[in-house]
Amino acid sequence: MSDTMNFSKLFDLSGRAALVTGSSRGIGRAIALGLAERGAAVAVHGTRPSGALDEALADVRGHSGASIGVTGDLSQAEEAGRIVGTATAALGALDILVVNASLQVRRPWALVEQAEAEQQMQVNFHASLRMIQAAVPGMRQRKWGRILTIGSVQQRRPHPDMIVYAASKSALENLVRNLAKQLGPDGITINNLAPGVILTDRNVSALADESYAARVREMIPLRDFAAPEDCVGAALLLCSDAGRYITGQDLYVDGGMGLP
Ligand code: NAP
Repeated sequence: MSDTMNFSKLFDLSGRAALVTGSSRGIGRAIALGLAERGAAVAVHGTRPSGALDEALADVRGHSGASIGVTGDLSQAEEAGRIVGTATAALGALDILVVNASLQVRRPWALVEQAEAEQQMQVNFHASLRMIQAAVPGMRQRKWGRILTIGSVQQRRPHPDMIVYAASKSALENLVRNLAKQLGPDGITINNLAPGVILTDRNVSALADESYAARVREMIPLRDFAAPEDCVGAALLLCSDAGRYITGQDLYVDGGMGLP
């Protein structure tokens, strides 16, 4: 870094190619938009073709015309590699991978069944590792890469009825610390962004119960839920040159909810 560094370029992603899984809706969609607004060509991803995916892609293309849509169900083991392959074939080797899609099942721990547990671990952990394996060789060649996993405040405050989901997010954070040391020498950073309670489709029905919503608010020092857009600033930091010297970190975007 020199004295002549132009700080206005720190968040510039022109010429970068990105894949954001689960970006048809919610936090992933907001992050995809943020990356596109900074100039990245983004592969917007959903499980299957949908109106939501079309709308998200249209918004992203409004900022970055080269962006594409890609579909695939990450509960199917072979899909993770295929999704990265499709994005790479269309956009060129990926510079930025945001592993955002997840499966979340609520059930009392004593009733959790093997198949359901395996499916959550498949989508949330195994597919993430597979996509990282597929994306890293191209990043290594260019000595630049940004990998961002999306964890959860449940790494610190596991919900009693989400024992597998919470564990899958802690596993991701462990993976991040492990890989940060192994990928750093090639100019690749990897970090975890841990959201708190963000108003997205998966929370709508639970938070519609006003007394439950009030109890959850009480657990949040900032006393409010967040919008998906509240995750974008942290994501841009960790996916750009601004985050060049940040790796292996676990950044909570949770209004303080995860504090001990
Ligand atoms: P969301 O609104 O529920 O959207 C989920 C996204 O993931 C959609 O794009 C969906 O695609 C995709 N997806 C779901 N199952 C998939 C599968 N089997 N294969 C491929 N894609 C799949 O999600 P969100 O609330 O924004 O959450 C985004 C991330 O933040 C997740 O990792 C979640 O665990 C984490 N998080 C969220 C909160 C929160 O309060 N919302 C809190 C902590 C952590 P379709 O549109 O095709 O269904």
